[in-house]
Amino acid sequence: MQRLIAGLITLALVCFAVPAAAKNTIENIRMWPSPDRTRVVFDMSQEPDFSYFQLNQSHPFRLVIDLPATELTFNLEGFETNSLLVKKIRTSTPKTSGSTRLVVELDQVVEPKINVVGPSGDRGHRLVVDLPGTSVKRDATALSADDLQERKVTVAIDAGHGGEDPGSVGPRGTYEKDVVLRVARALANMINADPTMQAYLIRSDDYYVDLNERPRKAERVNADLFVSIHADAFVTPQPRGASIWVLSNRRASTEMGRLLENKERLSDVLAGVEPAVNDKAFLNQTLVSMKMDHAMLSGYEAATEVLSELKRITKMHKTKPQHASLAVLTSTAMPSMLVETGFISNPTEEQLLLSNQHQQKLARAIYQGVRSYFMRRPPDGTLFATNRASRHVVKSGESLSILANRYNTSVSAIKARNKLDSSVIRIGQVLEIPTPE
Ligand SMILES: [Zn+2]
Repeated sequence: MQRLIAGLITLALVCFAVPAAAKNTIENIRMWPSPDRTRVVFDMSQEPDFSYFQLNQSHPFRLVIDLPATELTFNLEGFETNSLLVKKIRTSTPKTSGSTRLVVELDQVVEPKINVVGPSGDRGHRLVVDLPGTSVKRDATALSADDLQERKVTVAIDAGHGGEDPGSVGPRGTYEKDVVLRVARALANMINADPTMQAYLIRSDDYYVDLNERPRKAERVNADLFVSIHADAFVTPQPRGASIWVLSNRRASTEMGRLLENKERLSDVLAGVEPAVNDKAFLNQTLVSMKMDHAMLSGYEAATEVLSELKRITKMHKTKPQHASLAVLTSTAMPSMLVETGFISNPTEEQLLLSNQHQQKLARAIYQGVRSYFMRRPPDGTLFATNRASRHVVKSGESLSILANRYNTSVSAIKARNKLDSSVIRIGQVLEIPTPE
């Protein structure tokens, strides 16, 4: 007993002498360069306190961040920057002992945005430093806004999550952000190979774009359709299958819908965006206008087309488009949909989502569905509208040879024009009829 008391006194003295709990530590650093900014994230043991100033007289320009009573628990020497904007991150002698001074060396003068973000998911306290400026070379395969042509239909493809936000994580550790990016890229390639369409990738690599910014980026290039690509997750491994979500001006009525709303709303926080921004994630009622009604209606129509293609190649979780209030679907300028390609939380589907073949199939199905939608609803001034006169909706009893005969063309020409692999056509299918030579 006496030894215990003595021990407790010693412990109390030690605690008093070294207020270990009060000292913050920087535990890790991550860097996410994107075409328009670099996000640097410092993992902290506690909520950080900080101040900063800039030294912009000479190159490299410097952003100096002071963290009082903070210790760096690893060596920054080994940290390699993968951003064109950030040359180096190092420490320098702090103002007071026991503090840390971080120096971010920059290639350009920037206006930094520094935020403290609280714990979310499996992430703890973070200091998030956003540095605006070109940080990666443009992906040669992705079209930039300047590459887009007026008469082609523009499909904005939004690969969900990215960077600091992994999205859902499969039982084998597969990140949603990685598989959806691969499906998005495959879809973009198919669309860009189509002479009447072009794809604009909202993100073309592993970085985060704020939820509210995603539809805005699509609006800035006058996209005709917005397709957000995700993979679902549930707390149990059983649920599987794909589903498509469209905007509703009310909160979702189903449990899955509410789960999705909450999950996607958390995306910004996980990615290191200040939480206040998230209030906008839910659709403001005043946004509901006639324009919005039209966008919602066309979104539902486009989603129905994509759904009818998806169900041919994958199991469906829901056979009709589902309604939810999601930030990425709030554009009034274009129809939008969110495709959940499958449940990454289901071991079988995680495996499928990882396979290149299945990714291609998913992309092909979305492409075909989008194409059918634009054939039915060609936007004014596009090649789809010009070609509209020569489209045909397949009726009962018709075959490709009957149609080839009627339109004075050939079976192979119709197949080539519509990118058909076989001669099997179905009732209601919309075919483009090539003009006779
Ligand atoms: Zn997602």
